[in-house]
Amino acid sequence: MTAPPASFASLTTMGVGGPIAQLCTCQTVGELIEAAHDAWAEGLPWVVLGGGSNIVAADDPFEGTVIAARGGEFRVVGSDSDRVVLEVDAGMAWDDLVATAVDEGWSGLEALSGIPGSVGAAPIQNIGAYGAEFADVARGVGFLPEGADAVEYLPASECEFGYRTSVFKRGLSGVVCTVRLEVSRSSESAPVGYAQLAHALGVDLGDRVPLRDVREHVLELRSSKGMVFRQDDVDSHGCGSFFVNPVVPIGMLTNLPADSPFWPVSAPAEAAVFPLGESVEQDMPPAPRSGPERVKLSAAWLIEHSGIRRGFCLPGSGAAVSSKHTLAITNRGSASANDVLALARFIQTRVASEFGVVLHPEPILVGFSL
Ligand SMILES: Cc1cc2nc3c(=O)[nH]c(=O)nc-3n(C[C@H](O)[C@H](O)[C@H](O)COP(=O)(O)OP(=O)(O)OC[C@H]3O[C@@H](n4cnc5c(N)ncnc54)[C@H](O)[C@@H]3O)c2cc1C
Repeated sequence: MTAPPASFASLTTMGVGGPIAQLCTCQTVGELIEAAHDAWAEGLPWVVLGGGSNIVAADDPFEGTVIAARGGEFRVVGSDSDRVVLEVDAGMAWDDLVATAVDEGWSGLEALSGIPGSVGAAPIQNIGAYGAEFADVARGVGFLPEGADAVEYLPASECEFGYRTSVFKRGLSGVVCTVRLEVSRSSESAPVGYAQLAHALGVDLGDRVPLRDVREHVLELRSSKGMVFRQDDVDSHGCGSFFVNPVVPIGMLTNLPADSPFWPVSAPAEAAVFPLGESVEQDMPPAPRSGPERVKLSAAWLIEHSGIRRGFCLPGSGAAVSSKHTLAITNRGSASANDVLALARFIQTRVASEFGVVLHPEPILVGFSL
């Protein structure tokens, strides 16, 4: 019997997407670099895939190469009595790394337990959960820029990590080959930074608790929301949160119901704008200390209060809102990428018309846009 051709549907947790012209599976960083060079030499479209847990691809055939990073290991490349620096191959499973860190007594990764996917994808959207994010422990990334011969080291300060974003997500094209992380030698966790987790642990925000307790409670909380990928939990057959929490100017709160949750966020630096013909050097104003105050809204709250409930689906569609979490779009078994897209657009439109806020997708979309 011949194996069916590879497709995005078979390689992603959303389980949708068309056939792939060429799949190149890489077990080592060396193979990853070679596959990237081959794909670039062909001049066809290419995509790097880790666990496929943050990608939604179109139903049309993909006429290019998918480079799948699978497998890898970590090395201790620096250590003293307090800290350990790790270099980790892109293809290693993220949660295997977290489990190892907890077993070894390395503190800093435990709140990121249970996030599906590979280490190489972690910097792409600066993965985060339960008050922690990749940037907290990141030292840098071994990166092969598109078209380059050799891997370069990008220190974390050049990765422009932000809320579910980075320089890579904003368009710096290439392959993450390794990441460098710095963790603490401690049997105690980093300070607990998320109220729900602190409540589950029975401690105050900012307390430190045994690493294993954080991992176990995070995995429990995540499972209850369908946020641990499991074959037998259809609510996890998606990409986790489908929309990012919108960050808006604080003035927008006046248009929202008083009970709409929000969190202040530090403002990004404002771009200076000069009229044409004026000398930038002479007229440069002092750098602004901060921009206008901005707030992060809850995308889940906006979706629920626009009338979309858990489990919602459009007539005849195989895609549905998770029955455990409004922010996740899931494949109930027979969804096409078009089903996912139609539901995402429906949610976007409901929220925009109810609250005037446009939700942006968190996963990477291949072959279409929202
Ligand atoms: C049930 C569930 C729960 C989730 N919970 C969370 C969560 O709590 N927090 C969170 O942040 N995310 C979450 N996610 C999203 C996802 O797990 C993360 O974004 C993860 O980092 C994706 O890893 P991956 O290897 O599967 O990436 P993929 O889906 O394979 O790829 C994602 C993007 O990264 C690029 N990429 C992957 N590897 C490389 C590489 N080596 N070099 C260059 N580019 C690369 C791909 O081209 C693509 O653009 C969840 C997803 C699911 C299904």
